[in-house]
Amino acid sequence: MQIRDAGSPVSSPNFGGLVPCQPNLPEDIKVLYNDPMQQIKKTKIIATVGPSCWEDDQLVAMTKAGVNAFRLNMSHFNRRHFIRVITVSRRIARNDDRALSIIADLQGPKIRLGILPDTGIKLEAGQKIKIQLSDKYQDGILPSQFDFFDYIAKGDRVLLRDGQIQLEVTKVDKKSVDCKALNTGIVFSRQGINLPDTIIKNSSITSKDLEDIEFAIENNVDYIALSFVQEAKDVEQLRQILKRHNAEHIGIISKIETQASLKGLESIIVSSDAVMVARGDLGAETPIENVPMIQKRIIRLARLSQKPVIVATQMLESMINSPLPTRAEVSDIANAVIDQADCLMLSGETAAGYYPIEVVSMMKKTILATEANLDYQNQPQRPANQNPQLALAEAATSLAQRLDLKVMIASTSSGTTARNLSSLRPGISIYTVTHNRRLFNQMAIVWGTKSILCNPNQNGTRATIDHLLKNKIIKPGEIVVSLFGKHKGESGGTDTIRLFRT
Ligand code: PGA
Ligand code: MN
Repeated sequence: MQIRDAGSPVSSPNFGGLVPCQPNLPEDIKVLYNDPMQQIKKTKIIATVGPSCWEDDQLVAMTKAGVNAFRLNMSHFNRRHFIRVITVSRRIARNDDRALSIIADLQGPKIRLGILPDTGIKLEAGQKIKIQLSDKYQDGILPSQFDFFDYIAKGDRVLLRDGQIQLEVTKVDKKSVDCKALNTGIVFSRQGINLPDTIIKNSSITSKDLEDIEFAIENNVDYIALSFVQEAKDVEQLRQILKRHNAEHIGIISKIETQASLKGLESIIVSSDAVMVARGDLGAETPIENVPMIQKRIIRLARLSQKPVIVATQMLESMINSPLPTRAEVSDIANAVIDQADCLMLSGETAAGYYPIEVVSMMKKTILATEANLDYQNQPQRPANQNPQLALAEAATSLAQRLDLKVMIASTSSGTTARNLSSLRPGISIYTVTHNRRLFNQMAIVWGTKSILCNPNQNGTRATIDHLLKNKIIKPGEIVVSLFGKHKGESGGTDTIRLFRT
């Protein structure tokens, strides 16, 4: 679906020189033996919640297995369970001193089928089928929950099940379309409909989204994910809505899943707080074979803008029904780690699968086994830039690398310093310390960082060093590098790099 033209970019930073995003690969393979699950991973895991995992003890077990953020999929909104997930997640974060983000993922203008019989509807290649606006399957007519009949034309493709079943439009009426199935397959209730040849002139924020945004604000989520973003203006529209509700602190994740969003990618990244490579719809809206290179491009541009980037959909799809993944899925996870994405996301695997805990463990093991073999020390030089904050982060990183330090500490009041350090993928543990509990949780999706919460009257660096010594992460006398600002609480106020002998 191309909802409307991308228009011209709002602003475009200098993405100049080609920066490879891959660290050096080793000659030999290092294998983790002693209880690898005790190791700290740098790449974060987002798990979608649903009936398979939203009981309290399951949520606790998932965070123990490696989850850093829970995603509430608003397409399957459930007020009671979502509120419980938020409450339990906040409790775990408080009790275990563990940052956990909550992401409310808006449905956006996603076109879905209505209700079909439980066994689904089988379509045979060559079969004629009508689609009309309706809630339920009746008299051999497929129901659509969205009226797209004004926009579609004869010859356009209609894709069902993320593109697994292709239909071609043979006739358009005011209230329905007639199609011919080009291949055989079964469709089920509420599955998505993609219209890659059709431009629908509509906003990315629907009236259902507006209600869901209110729910997200009321329940104090950390991020809102915006589906089917077309251009930076859509992100600004959500930003204005959040402003009107005094909720500007909620971060915006733009889901890249349409042709238009690829055209305006750079300005969308600049106006967002994070982006998602939403491979499900992307693989239907663009030719599927382009998705791997698009993934690499989005990750590279997001890193150059110091924005966290999430790789999503079908990462361990076969584990919905099986206790073990395919080799290809494990490889896909490893490659996303090598691409240096911030987060990998699980969808149906945790929300509706049989192995919600095992799938998280599998992902964590694969992340750790891959990270153990990456050399982060010799990252390629970045192009020069005029951002003093970023230059400070670069200087701190090179200092830490030269002195072979284990730990960098970033005192942060807006998250910028932490994101700057993380975007350099330094391979040195980044401890981000703040007295703002919301920011503490928001940092959970930022690559390679560990959040520390301190009291407003405490010195953040000191509090972190105490924590590191107490937990034997560093030895007394060890040097750490710290980044902070003289003016506490001021965003962009970081102006000091200091070496501390603990
Ligand atoms: P969805 O988004 O699961 O909400 O569709 C992710 C994707 O399209 O990959
Ligand atoms: Mn999607």
